Parts: sequence; structure tokens; C-alpha cells
Amino acid sequence: MTLGRLFIITIMTVLAGLAFPASNASGSAPSRPSIRFVQQGKIKYLYLRDVASYYGMRYAVSGKTATVASAYSRLLFTLDSRSMTLNGVRVHLAFAISRRGKDYLLSINDFQLLLDPILRPAALPRRTIRKIVLDPGHGGKDVGAVADGTLEKTINLQVATRLAAKLRQRGYTVVTTRKSDTPVSLSQRVESTSKWGADLFISLHCNSAEASVSGLEIFSATWHGTPPTGDLVPAKERCPANAFDRENSYLSFTTQKALLDATKASDRGIKRRRFSVIRDITCPGMLVEMGFLSNNTERQLLKQANRQDAIAKAIADAVDKFRTTLAPPPAR
Ligand SMILES: [Zn+2]
Repeated sequence: MTLGRLFIITIMTVLAGLAFPASNASGSAPSRPSIRFVQQGKIKYLYLRDVASYYGMRYAVSGKTATVASAYSRLLFTLDSRSMTLNGVRVHLAFAISRRGKDYLLSINDFQLLLDPILRPAALPRRTIRKIVLDPGHGGKDVGAVADGTLEKTINLQVATRLAAKLRQRGYTVVTTRKSDTPVSLSQRVESTSKWGADLFISLHCNSAEASVSGLEIFSATWHGTPPTGDLVPAKERCPANAFDRENSYLSFTTQKALLDATKASDRGIKRRRFSVIRDITCPGMLVEMGFLSNNTERQLLKQANRQDAIAKAIADAVDKFRTTLAPPPAR
């Protein structure tokens, strides 16, 4: 067994290459708690108890559950599981929680690219969010999901139209990849981000599955070297959207939380896949699955103006939060 060689490193090493707040950039930075890591197979894991102390949070294990908590945040991890909850929102990890002796382990990928951006968004790179591309999925002959005469392309466009109006009211410049029931290729959708110099891309879709399934989920691009949600085969290549992995985690989490609060729909979590519209974009972005047309209750809700408006408002609120968090310091 070559597993389990233990290294002690400092958090500065773990986070090498990531931005830190200016206040920590001086030579006299206070010493930080160190985070130990351990290699298991091809995956590098961090000791979860060390991650907790890095954030000044409590760490406790009971049965198969590890809790990391402070006055503001509560993270629940389950041994051998790729699903966790953060402040009540379901978050899908790239790698399952592992163990060394009695200690629970979190992959370094999930720490750097998923949890740290959500718990410490002040460390995200500064970026102005002004131009937004809204992408109502499908259109023309491509109707998307269909259930009981309701077409996905129609709901996507209706919500996008409401969202565009709200964002413009709040001062954003908005372009939609289609304004009516017209076909748009996937490459046209993606190219709109670079052609136009977009700061943010949001694709809107509705889901379909067996009738009992319902709820909301949000996708961003799978990170390099990690498996997508629901799969075990790691993505071998980098994709353009990987330049924004940390921003995308914060954006997805913030949006999912706002949508759940607004709709009380069931929570299918924030996920990663490489759909072309979230893989090849040249700005932060996400694909929002607003609910299941195949579920009778959810389909009826998605057709209603007040549900569409609640979804649009929740996404606009999340975009505002994203803009404020990432805003560059005012010019002096
Ligand atoms: Zn769709």
C-alpha cells in the first residue's frame, strides 16, 4: 500500500494561485491553521477537521455524518457520499467523502473550487457584471421537453422575457439568444458570449423524467480532472468555462438558494456537467433547470405567471448578489 503518505502543508500552499483579500497580502500575515492532506489513489484529500478550523468552524462526527458549523453556516457531510448540504442547499461533490482512521476527508478539488468560493466569496477575483446573455433553451422545431401539450421552449422563453425585463430595470444590459420561437444552434448560443463580451451567461430549461420526480437543479461546467455529477469518469481536458470554476460555484449556489426560498420546490442541488452551452462560454455561467414538465403539479405551476415571475425575480436577486460580491473596489 502506498496510500496514506501524510504531508503537512499550510493553507497558503493549498490555495497557491488563488486570490486573497488585499489585507492578507502583506508580509506580516498572521499564521493560519495548517491543513493536512493525504493522497488516496489519484485523489488528494484534506482533513475535514483542518478545513473546519481554517474557517474557525466547529467540527463534529456522529455516525456517518460530519458537521462543520459556525453561527452563520452549517455544512453536513456523509461518509462515502458525493452529496452534502450547505445552509440547507444540496451540493454535489466531485468526489465522495472519504476517511482515514476516524478522520473524514474532503477532496482538494471540492474544497478549492466548490466550498471555498461559497464560504469565502470575498476572495473571488474582482469582476464587473454588466452585460448578460440570457439563453431560453430550444426553439423552432426543437421543442425540448413535452408534457400534456406544454412545450419546454415556450416556458423557457416566457421566463427569459420576464427575467430580461427585471435585469434591465436593475441596470444590466441584456441580450437574449432568441426573442421568439426561432431555432438557434448551440454554437450560436455559445458564441454570443465572446462576440458580445458578456460578463454572465444564463441558460433556462425545464426538465423531464418519470412523473414522480420534481424540483430545481443548476448546472455549471465540470472541472478539469474531476467526474461530472452522476458519473465517475473524470473530464480529461480543460474547457473554456473552467476559467470560471470558482465564480460558477458561488453563482450556482446563490441562485439555487434564492430559487428554493422563492418556490419551496424540492432541491436537486447544484451539479456539474459539460453541456455545450456551459462548457464553451467565455464568462461565468450556469444552466438553470426550473422544474419538471413531466410532473403534473410542477407543470401547472410553471405555466402560471406568478411562478414564472417568482423564478425570474429569484434569479435576478442572485445576479445582483453576484454583481455586488464581485464588484471591483471603487476608483479613488
Ligand atoms: Zn431543455
